[in-house]
Amino acid sequence: MKKETIFSKIIKRKIISDIIYQDKLVTAFLDSNPQAPCHVLIVTNKIIPTINDITADDELTLGRLFTVAAKIAKQKGISKNGYRLIINCNKDGGQEIFHIHMHLIGGCSLGPIVSICRNDN
Ligand code: AMP
Repeated sequence: MKKETIFSKIIKRKIISDIIYQDKLVTAFLDSNPQAPCHVLIVTNKIIPTINDITADDELTLGRLFTVAAKIAKQKGISKNGYRLIINCNKDGGQEIFHIHMHLIGGCSLGPIVSICRNDN
């Protein structure tokens, strides 16, 4: 069994969080350090550390991240104006929590993705 993560503890409700959606495959909750008016994390219930670790068996779960993101975006009233979905991978991708999660960010104009490489680490 994979080592627990902060997100697996949230999924099992061992840590309090603002869970807004949960099913057999994924759980969605509010990011504790929001970067926009809407910042939701949609997390696989199965502990998969990074996108590099996915297998074909995970395709249904990964697809669910998108259908739930679209559902939440609609509920939050940001579908029409738009939003951004992000999955970070490993150090250069800026991943901090090693349990696959999709960021759903919106509620304001996000502008283009900034293409600055940070070579300070
Ligand atoms: P990442 O850099 O893609 O791994 O993103 C990790 C995200 O998890 C960050 O946006 C954090 O603000 C968020 N985060 C960390 N701990 C918690 C928590 N206990 N509840 C909600 N969000 C969290």
